[in-house]
Amino acid sequence: MHSTDTAAAADALATLVSYRTVSSRSPGGTDEAEFEAFLAALPGLFPGVYAAMDVERVNGRALLFRWAGVPRTSSPTDNTAPATTGTAGGLEGPAVLMAHYDVVPAGDEAAWTHPPFSGHNDGTHLWGRGTLDDKGQLAVILSAAEALLAEGFAPARDVYFSFGDNEETAGDSAAAAAALLAERGVRPALVLDEGGAVAGGAFPGVTRPAAVVGVAEKGILDVELLTRDPGGHASTPPRMGATARLARAITRIENHPFPQHLPDVTAEMLRRFGPHAPLPLRLAFARVERLRRPLTWLFGRLGGETNAMTRTTVAITTLRGSAGANVLAATAAANANIRVAVGETVAGTVERLRRIIRDPKVELRVVEGNEPSPVSASYGPAWELLTECIGTAYPEAIVTPYIMMGGTDSRRFTGICEAVYRFAPFAMDRADRASIHAVDEKISLDALGRGVRFYETLLRKL
Ligand SMILES: [Zn+2]
Repeated sequence: MHSTDTAAAADALATLVSYRTVSSRSPGGTDEAEFEAFLAALPGLFPGVYAAMDVERVNGRALLFRWAGVPRTSSPTDNTAPATTGTAGGLEGPAVLMAHYDVVPAGDEAAWTHPPFSGHNDGTHLWGRGTLDDKGQLAVILSAAEALLAEGFAPARDVYFSFGDNEETAGDSAAAAAALLAERGVRPALVLDEGGAVAGGAFPGVTRPAAVVGVAEKGILDVELLTRDPGGHASTPPRMGATARLARAITRIENHPFPQHLPDVTAEMLRRFGPHAPLPLRLAFARVERLRRPLTWLFGRLGGETNAMTRTTVAITTLRGSAGANVLAATAAANANIRVAVGETVAGTVERLRRIIRDPKVELRVVEGNEPSPVSASYGPAWELLTECIGTAYPEAIVTPYIMMGGTDSRRFTGICEAVYRFAPFAMDRADRASIHAVDEKISLDALGRGVRFYETLLRKL
């Protein structure tokens, strides 16, 4: 990697940040022209990539690049034949590198230190919405490819770049890209998307940064709770009207958290942190198998984040009752936003919710539900390859698998690939992580440079 690659990536990212590619759930809520301008800017920023690869639009505004592989092992005369598979490192099949270029709204723009769509470079950081989530990843993938192409490099296997335009609204572009690859018989050996990062201060007492790689993600489920009542005037209320019944159901949910267990992936994470943790924890983590029950119990009480690692969680997010201050509610409704633990199911979760509420007059309706993802292995060739590349860019980091609490586009690829990983090669401290979806999102130039190095290493080793 040359420092010029870092500078080029920073310049490209500054331009990409300047487009207001804010995704929205409401029809007409997105600024089409900004998305088109973003797409129009890419060939000028990455001319080598556009000259060397097939680029197509998927589902409207998502992009799918195909970089044809040239097999290394065959005789020179075979080198012109496009490869559909590579065999380096025991991996069979192409690789898919993912990112998304839509962003969440900037919120109160006046509250930002530098304007959110300025791409301001202050010499150490590049500022703006999307620098970490997730235009930064798109920029370093393309910058790494551009730098390698300038050297005349071609990968040993087909490599795809799949860039989404509606990840933040859980849109369908990634599903369309996965379906397109499936239709063409493409079975990737590796899919890499956003998710984990190189986190400083992630674990109490552990001074070394942790490269946390998402090997699975929880399911996301919205369930509407609905109660009905004849309604009428508020001066003559019935016992247990619609709102009281709904409130009782919510209280029961609150009082009956879902059962806890420590997933194997989390146990593995503790084992890997173990040697680097301060003394009492070091001993506990080395014996995680025998101490599973007390550790699980402890996780449930340490705080919201560790609690969410051990169980399906339910948050009541919206409430609706009567429209008038003196009118009884004919219907009352609440939305339960549920994150389904890996290993459990949407149907099983709704069933348990019914048992917890134990009131047939509370109607439950699944608004939208995604099953938790399968778990990718934290061993084997794809995992080892990632570990090696992380080591090149962040030699001091502890590499560990983890289960993501949020969702990513990559869950759409679990049907065509067993090795789906969620990781951005960027160092993020606590403040950086807090700036995602908030004000003052920014990425350090050092992290950008290491990100380019990570993808250059990965593309060379594939
Ligand atoms: Zn994202």
